[in-house]
Amino acid sequence: MTPQLDVAVVGAGIAGLTAAHELGRAGLTVRVYEEQPHVGGRMHSFRHDGYTVDTGAEQISPHGYRATWELLARLGVPDSDVPRVGGSLATWRNGRARPGAADHRAVLTGAGLSPRARADLARMLSWAALHRRHFAADRPEHTPLGTATVAEFAARYHRDVHDYLLQPLCGAFFGWDTARSTAAPLIGLLLAVGPPAGWRTYRDGMDLLARRLADGLDVVTGRAVHQVTSGRRGARLHLDDGTVTARAVVLAVPAPVAARLHARPTADEAAYLAACTFTPALKVSCLLDRPLAPACGRPLYVLLTPRAEDRVLSCVIADHVKHPGRAPDGKGLLTLMADARTIPDLLRAPHAEVVDRLTTAARRYVPGLDTAVRRSFVHTHVHGLPEATARALRLRPRFMARAPRPVEYAGDWVMLRPASEGAVRSGALAASRVLARLAGSHGRPARRIEELTL
Ligand SMILES: Cc1cc2nc3c(=O)[nH]c(=O)nc-3n(C[C@H](O)[C@H](O)[C@H](O)COP(=O)(O)OP(=O)(O)OC[C@H]3O[C@@H](n4cnc5c(N)ncnc54)[C@H](O)[C@@H]3O)c2cc1C
Repeated sequence: MTPQLDVAVVGAGIAGLTAAHELGRAGLTVRVYEEQPHVGGRMHSFRHDGYTVDTGAEQISPHGYRATWELLARLGVPDSDVPRVGGSLATWRNGRARPGAADHRAVLTGAGLSPRARADLARMLSWAALHRRHFAADRPEHTPLGTATVAEFAARYHRDVHDYLLQPLCGAFFGWDTARSTAAPLIGLLLAVGPPAGWRTYRDGMDLLARRLADGLDVVTGRAVHQVTSGRRGARLHLDDGTVTARAVVLAVPAPVAARLHARPTADEAAYLAACTFTPALKVSCLLDRPLAPACGRPLYVLLTPRAEDRVLSCVIADHVKHPGRAPDGKGLLTLMADARTIPDLLRAPHAEVVDRLTTAARRYVPGLDTAVRRSFVHTHVHGLPEATARALRLRPRFMARAPRPVEYAGDWVMLRPASEGAVRSGALAASRVLARLAGSHGRPARRIEELTL
């Protein structure tokens, strides 16, 4: 039987859309199946009453996002559509926001670190600079840190380096437990993206890239795939209303979902899929009648709330400081991120209770919040960010060395990189693997494969 499609992609997140875009450029017939009514996955944004709400990702960087910027340039997205974020990062300590987090100038300014911890931060930064060349973002398993966890790495330094720098960064941006996730991907990412002063956001919402990619693609939204089965010549998708055959399938969904959908993964695939666990993410967007933000001597984009100070929140984000277009003139938009440890509890609670718990916790950072909130939205991601555990790091080389097969995978977890750049790179990589296999079996030219290989 002739397959209906060259390639079927499952998932219209940024990984699946990138894979579909690359495969389409190579002249293949590609269709993307997405269970949600919209594209973007964890980079989805929605508009409400003049506010633009980012439900997942918040920012990118001019550094360490090479594949993303290449894609943006190819799609003709001007630099001005990806402006610099306003404001800086601060850490809450002893009743006050201390600016300068994640910036090497913290060695001088403190950013919530005690004087002895600042000296250790300088030591940590020199160590990272010395070993920088070993931290290629695509090979987190090949660094001098091996499979040391973040907590083990931090134990080399003053306790504050963990409690008031690495834990709050891991908690706010990845929902990571520092005793479970490894240090190599974290240090690699921090080295790659540079200080927050340079970070960027998409002007009209974090879904900009997803929307632009989807414009040129065949995307079917609102269609969940229930199972994928593969044979020697291709694969079959099982949907509510029948099946679809394709010469190849790209499963561009979080690893636990891929493990559930793929009927018969090989042993090396199954082992890595099982090792790629995720942390959940939960955030509450508060649409404000005025531009309130955490108090600090300077405009704040993110206030990190370390576990040593707060058990409920991991950070407060001032979206209208990130970019003024996120809220109408004279109004504000705040995001309250839940600490990963409270999320299992919150997932069982009604939304009104979730909003109440998070806004109650946020009052100490944002006085007047109660009276300023006009509307709140709760966003949950059961699979928020890939954890990058020691086990996943150990199994990754074998997974990456597997031969191309009818069912390929894409997603940030493939790169063990908890950021959208990892998803984009994985999408391009999956496309090159599909092309390699199809070219091998049908004599298609290999030129495009080389272009796409990372
Ligand atoms: C709260 C949060 C904050 C973040 N902040 C940042 C940040 O500031 N910067 C950054 O770079 N990254 C950030 N990230 C990470 C970034 O969002 C992800 O790395 C990236 O979006 C992952 O893309 P993906 O395509 O791999 O997966 P996803 O976006 O999860 O896409 C998977 C898609 O598959 C669909 N799907 C699932 N099951 C099925 C099925 N059975 N059938 C059909 N479709 C299905 C889903 O609906 C989804 O659309 C953040 C993530 C979260 C959760």
